[in-house]
Amino acid sequence: MLNIVLFGPPGAGKGTQSQKLIDKYQLKHLSTGDMLRSEIAHQTELGLKAKELMDAGLLVPDEVVIGMIDNQLNANKESKGFIFDGFPRTVAQAQALDTLLSNHLTSIHLMLALTVTEEELVKRLLIRGESSGRADDQDEAKIRVRVNEYNTKTAQVATYYEGQGKFKAIDGIGDIDEIFSALCTEIEQVG
Ligand code: AMP
Repeated sequence: MLNIVLFGPPGAGKGTQSQKLIDKYQLKHLSTGDMLRSEIAHQTELGLKAKELMDAGLLVPDEVVIGMIDNQLNANKESKGFIFDGFPRTVAQAQALDTLLSNHLTSIHLMLALTVTEEELVKRLLIRGESSGRADDQDEAKIRVRVNEYNTKTAQVATYYEGQGKFKAIDGIGDIDEIFSALCTEIEQVG
């Protein structure tokens, strides 16, 4: 199995690069943001609760996203591996993920972190907001709240994986294919 955390602030290119990595390595993509947006689209109770926090740019509670990941790991036991996108976003989520994966006799092999400056993120998200229709992408103040959530709660997750010797930073600014190739080089060193 190959389990990768694709890490970085909102707008770093995690979604774009995940798609390319899935195609190449046939991994199952687990994006908690996509799962939450699907809950909202289906107007579930969980979705309705999460929507307010997401629209404000704030993180949803750890137990909500950990539960969704647990369900997905159980539903995809035959997968060759997973790409975690937008999860874990807190150290508590990272610890819970280690426990869940060890229950399946596996672990995280690598965290790939895309680094992008804040000004570039804001620019990219405002452009994405024009086509995605996502409320959290359309307002600069909300984008800055998300970047602040990342800086105060999520950035420490990198330190967690650094402590396990699994962290690799990749420059997230530049040509999409060149960034992809830098990610693949790192993956091939563990695989
Ligand atoms: P994303 O699509 O990954 O940018 O996520 C969109 C929003 O969903 C975030 O701003 C959070 O409100 C929520 N969200 C997604 N993943 C998580 C997570 N792992 N922990 C907490 N909140 C999350």
